[in-house]
Amino acid sequence: MSVIVAVIGVGGLGCPAALALAESGVALRLIDEDTVERSNLHRQMLFDESDVGRAKVTAAKDALARIAPGAIVETRAEHLVPERAEALLRGVSAIVEGSDNLPTKFLSADVARRLGVPVVHGACVAWHGTVLPVSWGDGACYRCVFEELPEEETTNCAIAGVYGPVTSIIGAIMAADALRLLRGDRTIAGNLARYDGWRQTFRASPFPRRSDCPLCGGR
Ligand SMILES: [Zn+2]
Repeated sequence: MSVIVAVIGVGGLGCPAALALAESGVALRLIDEDTVERSNLHRQMLFDESDVGRAKVTAAKDALARIAPGAIVETRAEHLVPERAEALLRGVSAIVEGSDNLPTKFLSADVARRLGVPVVHGACVAWHGTVLPVSWGDGACYRCVFEELPEEETTNCAIAGVYGPVTSIIGAIMAADALRLLRGDRTIAGNLARYDGWRQTFRASPFPRRSDCPLCGGR
């Protein structure tokens, strides 16, 4: 059975993650309903001026075919919504989630749990980035860390901005973590990594798993 990694969100994080995974010989399923915008080109390394207005998944597939010939890339120009999430993710061996909004992050975590598939979450705001690799049964999951979807608007990269080099670093770490989880290396599971591009610090430490986690806790 071939190994397919789903990349949710083909933006500042999804582009470098997809590139690193494709170059590692992993087949990809790119999931994003957005089109390429000129204002995001500085942090979305697979796109250039000629891609503006195109579907991100299609433009990314074309770019990967040029950079990593032979890469197997499926595209799904869809938003991850609860009714379709399981169908969109069925059959993948791991999920790399670099979306820019919390509902998609929580939904990705929930569906990964239902399908029993490891998932690597990544996020960036301004000079800061975080990565959380999750392997069910080994360490914390997204809801152990963030619990519930907040009701009020929270800061994201669309509001606070994000620095392109930070997303490139975090996306590459997400790809590395996904490859490790695919190899069965659980030692990183539940490690919350924090990168501060301004202070040049990187810290990763196990986040405690919550026994009352609504997603992975209890029985
Ligand atoms: Zn949990």
